[in-house]
Amino acid sequence: MSESPGLVLVGTPIGNLGDLSERGRAALEDADLIACEDTRRSGALLAHLGIGRREFVVCNEHTQARAAERVVEAIEAGRSVALVSDAGMPSVSDPGEHVVRAVLEAGQAVTVVPGPTAAVSALVLSGLSSGRWCFEGFLPRKGSARSTRLAEVANETRTTVLYEAPHRLDRTVADLASTCGPDRPVAVARELTKKFEEVWRGTLGEFVALDREPRGEYVIVLEGAPPAADLSDEELATRLSTELQSGKTRRDAVAAVVAATGVSKKRVYDLALSL
Ligand code: SAM
Repeated sequence: MSESPGLVLVGTPIGNLGDLSERGRAALEDADLIACEDTRRSGALLAHLGIGRREFVVCNEHTQARAAERVVEAIEAGRSVALVSDAGMPSVSDPGEHVVRAVLEAGQAVTVVPGPTAAVSALVLSGLSSGRWCFEGFLPRKGSARSTRLAEVANETRTTVLYEAPHRLDRTVADLASTCGPDRPVAVARELTKKFEEVWRGTLGEFVALDREPRGEYVIVLEGAPPAADLSDEELATRLSTELQSGKTRRDAVAAVVAATGVSKKRVYDLALSL
């Protein structure tokens, strides 16, 4: 085993530079090599902290395999290595897990300096249930991958946290409204820890009806689906309509809704006949 402390994952601010912890700062100061998504962005963070130049290795979705090799070589040579992403926790909708796995497979240590992450920050601000929740990150952008994931999200009974880019926010909330029904409660958190931080709370349908241009960074926090026994006829009808609109026959739409909700086939079929 080398003398290196191994790899340290460092959470960095998601907007407010005051959120970098003392331990985070020390880990960056102590690092001989920093794996980062963007050298300009991480260079600016070091400059802000008054930390001198460090050797960087770029770790993004295209370079992470090579970056992982460099990180493992450095650790085996006894050097200290820190891994950061552009903002928030590395590995949370950001590069990182590939490097972590490579370091673990090499039998080296991994530690973490936790920092802000938009997902947890939005969850705790949402006012929705935080006892059981799940993270979906970014939805697939199109095709059956997107519709399948939307159906999974619609049926999820835990609070669900999603990330979205501003220019896709309205379409994603509209798609959620048609798969989950317009009455599902949602919180949309914007620009967390920054000057224009705000959290909008209401239903999916109310959000769709808003007239404004999304700007900045957004997290969607969606209340979980009610348990199957509590599903109203209206909610089942919305699900049936979504399935029918996607091109399914009545029989297949009924089968899909039954499989997704656990509601009896007779009840769903009778509803389908009344649509
Ligand atoms: N690693 C980051 C984390 O720990 O949250 C997430 C990186 S991901 C590439 C970027 C997405 O995170 C944005 O599109 C947005 O959905 C969310 N996000 C990041 N910073 C945010 C902020 N200050 N306010 C709201 N959402 C934010």
